[in-house]
Amino acid sequence: MVIITLMKARFDGKCKSCGDDIRKGKEIAKNADDVWVHKHCVEELVDLP
Ligand SMILES: [Zn+2]
Repeated sequence: MVIITLMKARFDGKCKSCGDDIRKGKEIAKNADDVWVHKHCVEELVDLP
């Protein structure tokens, strides 16, 4: 089972999944590798084999 932590970004950053900027206040998620990415980027990763 994959546990995904969701929260709102407290500072600007970069998504390791798509490479786009993460803006403060945006919903982000911590993936299985302990890396912060966009919420929608994690959901895409879950579908991969
Ligand atoms: Zn992303």
